[in-house]
Amino acid sequence: MTRVYLSLGSNIRPRHHLNAALESLNAQDTVRLLGVSPWYETRPWGGIAQANFLNLACALETDLPPSQLLQITQGIERRLGRVRTLRHGPRTIDIDILLAGGIRLATPTLTIPHPGLLERDFMLVPLLDLAPNARLPGNGERLSDQRTHLIHHQIIRRLPGVACAGNGVRS
Ligand code: ADP
Ligand code: MG
Repeated sequence: MTRVYLSLGSNIRPRHHLNAALESLNAQDTVRLLGVSPWYETRPWGGIAQANFLNLACALETDLPPSQLLQITQGIERRLGRVRTLRHGPRTIDIDILLAGGIRLATPTLTIPHPGLLERDFMLVPLLDLAPNARLPGNGERLSDQRTHLIHHQIIRRLPGVACAGNGVRS
């Protein structure tokens, strides 16, 4: 089993789409959803004027190789009506693979750890909520030590009252 961390974000009916994506992940036979981070309101990244996002991270276990997990997450994105028009533009749901156990990977379609993880607070901070002791594969650096190196500070606030793992997630 590989422990995987995903980053989810939405700025079109974000509560609805994040809940729907978590439920879809939880419904997969090949994936066991372990937990969900607090939810964060964030400023859009990438310079396009658009609504604020909600972002979160979730932890799961799977035997699937990362390429097959990407197929599943992209299938969920499609089902939830994600249309790729503007790069970094508004989206119903974006699901990115942040970490997958000790795997390091760089192919044309998949880079793990996600290249944004060490730059974007909305990826690193929710991950650290779930896994404060997480380390980078390869060099073993503590991810918590990377917080001072973040480049993109998009987080506006951590939402109160959206329960961790409270969205039909099995514990
Ligand atoms: P972004 O997440 O950068 O806003 P997309 O969600 O449209 O953009 O993803 C663009 C491509 O990024 C995907 O088609 C996928 O093949 C690729 N990709 C590379 N590494 C990852 C990763 N770790 N997680 C998810 N997608 C990835
Ligand atoms: Mg993506």
